[in-house]
Amino acid sequence: MARMKRRTFVGTLGLLGGGLMAVPGAAVPLRAAASGGGPVVISSGNGLPAVNTAMERLTAGASSLDAVIAGVNVVEDDPNDMTVGYGGLPNADGIVELDASVMHGPTHRAGAVAALRNIKNPSKVARLVMERTDHVLLVGEGALRFAKMHGFKEEELLTDASREMWVKWKENISTQDDYLPPHSPEDRDIGSRLSDVMQTYGTITCLAKDRNGDLSGVTTTSGLAWKIPGRVGDSPIIGAGLYVDNQTGAAGSTGRGEANLTNCSAVLIVDAMGRGQSPEEACLGACRRIAERTKMKRLQDADGRPAFNVTFYAVNKRGEVGSAAIWSGAWFTVNDGNGPGRRLESAYLYRRVQK
Ligand code: ASP
Repeated sequence: MARMKRRTFVGTLGLLGGGLMAVPGAAVPLRAAASGGGPVVISSGNGLPAVNTAMERLTAGASSLDAVIAGVNVVEDDPNDMTVGYGGLPNADGIVELDASVMHGPTHRAGAVAALRNIKNPSKVARLVMERTDHVLLVGEGALRFAKMHGFKEEELLTDASREMWVKWKENISTQDDYLPPHSPEDRDIGSRLSDVMQTYGTITCLAKDRNGDLSGVTTTSGLAWKIPGRVGDSPIIGAGLYVDNQTGAAGSTGRGEANLTNCSAVLIVDAMGRGQSPEEACLGACRRIAERTKMKRLQDADGRPAFNVTFYAVNKRGEVGSAAIWSGAWFTVNDGNGPGRRLESAYLYRRVQK
């Protein structure tokens, strides 16, 4: 997973392929893991290096905020993870635009950046927005200037691999434009849609409880691949892609951001934990809410279920963790201080099976 490519990752997160069908009322497995009172970290399926790095820091006495940011920085810096930071898949113009948010439980402060270009660690800039401004969210050019003001260096975030995927997407979106993919003189219908590169989601979220029992979280992403320039997803929106309440718990998300933006999912999960639900139950509740409120037929499968996936991750004040997705096949990672981090299957509302 540490070296996961975006296209592999999106196999569970993109719009569902035609070869899959839903099983109504599939049993939901319980996947909670308790920490036994010590520090604990939970992250998305691509977060094994993040939970291990974060746990190293927590064990050395770092705060939950320092730990989760150090954790996701490893993945932001990794060109092989094409969902986050350096090497993230670009927007429709071939430019990498990053979104990130952080939230610090003990002070209930948050910071975020959206559509930030040329800075590979948006999570660090989000932290500075929280600590060195009176605001919560900076976007685009303003966010870039703010990052440079604090000494961040601009760099090209597009790698050859992510550029080549963008070119492939561009050459295959339509048969009605002038871009052509490689082809032979015999080929017809050049440039028809390639479903595997059309809808690509991916993100890392990381939540931790530290030795003092304090909670923090971070969500960082290059967002939806090939997005309309300027599109902002749920990741930098406090309450949608990330929320932390130091009394109760923390929640983060990956998957179709638009569904979280219209359902305020992260804050709902934390509130549900506050009413006594386990992290996993609370995550499943957010999945159900999205499923019940996905009204547009274009977003539904043949049975009226969401034709996309969203995965939630949560930790409560006791250090119990849980994760759930709308569709089976999603993963989360945990490190509870007992050896290396583990990758576990998320609970789910609907099970995907091959027809
Ligand atoms: N939630 C992110 C967004 O919508 C993408 C993802 O997690 O896959 O930008």
